[in-house]
Amino acid sequence: MITTIAVIGAGTMGNGIAHVFAQNGYKVHLIDISQEVLDKGVLTISKNLDRMLLKNVITKNIKTATLGNISGFTSLQDGVKEVGLVIEAASENVELKLEIFKELDVHCRENTILATNTSSISITQIAAVTKRPDKVIGMHFMNPVPIMKLVEIIRGYSTCDSVTKTVMEISEKLGKTATEVNDYPGFVANRILMPMINEAIETLYNNVAGVTEIDTVMKLGMAHPMGPLQLADFIGLDVCLSILNVMYSGFKNPKYAPCPLLVNMVMAGKTGIKSGEGFYDYSESRKAEKVAKQFAQ
Ligand code: NAD
Repeated sequence: MITTIAVIGAGTMGNGIAHVFAQNGYKVHLIDISQEVLDKGVLTISKNLDRMLLKNVITKNIKTATLGNISGFTSLQDGVKEVGLVIEAASENVELKLEIFKELDVHCRENTILATNTSSISITQIAAVTKRPDKVIGMHFMNPVPIMKLVEIIRGYSTCDSVTKTVMEISEKLGKTATEVNDYPGFVANRILMPMINEAIETLYNNVAGVTEIDTVMKLGMAHPMGPLQLADFIGLDVCLSILNVMYSGFKNPKYAPCPLLVNMVMAGKTGIKSGEGFYDYSESRKAEKVAKQFAQ
């Protein structure tokens, strides 16, 4: 039985995945490139637990136990050697992921399952750099991980049945619904979501309507909880661009070509919430402005 897991990357997704596993009693080794990034990831988990505490969703003891289940590592080798499952949630970059999986294959036990949280990169390609392609699988959690119910389970070309079954069972133990899909660019979630986001950006680029107007149409007209441009900011514009590029080159179909405005915004460093600016402004000064407005009401 798997009781200890490793999560690689303490960013948006990695800290969420670590949070959910730790809250469900797993020992979690959280791995990132520096102590500073690790500390930031654990602080985010702590703040998210505080929010749950305030809403009476968890008790103080659960918060303490959850944080107690997480240990930070800056060395991949030390963090993965004794674990039964690794979930890689490092940046969406194919070369980086291939390097990480080569290293994992060397340092993990023979029977350790190697999962990736990639949004679009081929599981089969990642598996091929290891000597255990049958034990490599996609475990695609949704953002924000503690709240979203779905885990898209992606079987690579060589992934075996028993590994798929184990990973589906673990996802269910976390209170999630696991859905099995096959390994083609973008899988199911992003193959459908990203063309919609890209079309919303294209609509803005063609000056059909402004940011709030586009989001309002989709929120109120289609009952989406969030407009596509706001959702893009939330996911990260760099992540959206990477996914579109993977689908564009994977299918050789122009319908997935990223909108030039998206490309420009990423090049300018406007990657959404994480950079403080995307289609909306999340900078400290705007936050202060919003608070001032609230007090004025
Ligand atoms: P992020 O940029 O927030 O975090 C990535 C983290 O990986 C960073 O903390 C970075 O320091 C770390 N990292 C980079 N190289 C590393 C290495 N060699 N070893 C250890 N850590 C390393 O990115 P994210 O949004 O959390 O995305 C992570 C993965 O999850 C990507 O594959 C992405 O496609 C996928 N994903 C993202 C979302 C989303 O909404 N953001 C949703 C589902 C899946």
